[in-house]
Amino acid sequence: MFSFNYHRPESLEAALALASAGEDARLLAGGQTLIPTLKQRLASPSDLIDLAGVPALRDIVREADVLRIGAMVRHADVAASKVVREAIPALAELAGLIGDPAVRHRGTLGGSIANNDPSADYPAALLALDATVETDRRHIAAEDFFLGLFETALEPGEIVTAVAFPVGARGAYEKFPNPASRYAMAGVFVARGEGRVRVAVTGAAQGGVFRWSEAEAALETDFTVEALVGLALPAHDMIADIHGTGAYRAHLAAVMARRAVERLLGEVG
Ligand SMILES: Cc1cc2nc3c(=O)[nH]c(=O)nc-3n(C[C@H](O)[C@H](O)[C@H](O)COP(=O)(O)OP(=O)(O)OC[C@H]3O[C@@H](n4cnc5c(N)ncnc54)[C@H](O)[C@@H]3O)c2cc1C
Repeated sequence: MFSFNYHRPESLEAALALASAGEDARLLAGGQTLIPTLKQRLASPSDLIDLAGVPALRDIVREADVLRIGAMVRHADVAASKVVREAIPALAELAGLIGDPAVRHRGTLGGSIANNDPSADYPAALLALDATVETDRRHIAAEDFFLGLFETALEPGEIVTAVAFPVGARGAYEKFPNPASRYAMAGVFVARGEGRVRVAVTGAAQGGVFRWSEAEAALETDFTVEALVGLALPAHDMIADIHGTGAYRAHLAAVMARRAVERLLGEVG
């Protein structure tokens, strides 16, 4: 058994002070990843700073053309939020597809993006919607935030406070879930704004979430399912594991992209 100090600060300032004071402090959000990591002894922090008592991190606010969702907002609350459903319906839908009810009622937006699991759903939405990650010290464009497998631009002790999503583009998210975990085997978020299309793929690639620029260019010229015909992702860049080969995941991602476009065109769903 190893021991650590547990803290439950009631303000962001107090959380920040604890984060910089602890010799090896870790932030705790919903614990959906961190608690199993501790149980497996893959991390042994000196201090655990539970953000659950910081009310400022739990807001969902729509301000003109921006939807701001606090880092500690749980997936179930994003899925159920009337404000999110009206502003960016595809985002609420994505949140409702994460894991199972237990995970959705504990897991948080901030924890998900800070963890940057290559099969997590939110990163695709952030990239496709050109979201901005807000922290205690700066604003980071989604494009610059996700650096690779479980790697982000966050510095030690930096706390994600919220994510700001521009409102305006229409979006659709299609995911092929792993039947056991519900994580994405391939998930594609397509966002269509004024003269601009974003296609973000999660779950499939070894390097984590990425923008499929070839598909974006094709869809900007011709926003139809046919525009995607013949486009293929390189299988050797994709995850190959017991759940599927790289070629299978490349294929799945292309199918999910097509479905997302179909949905945006109102052809299905
Ligand atoms: C069975 C199961 C199924 C799942 N299925 C899916 C799925 O289908 N799709 C999906 O996207 N996800 C899935 N998840 C992941 C889940 O939804 C959580 O988002 C993820 O586990 C992170 O959990 P958390 O929010 O509880 O954060 P924690 O586990 O508490 O923290 C995760 C990491 O983020 C850091 N952190 C947390 N909050 C902040 C912050 N505000 N600022 C900076 N760093 C922070 C922590 O220090 C830690 O390193 C699944 C998880 C489980 C256990």
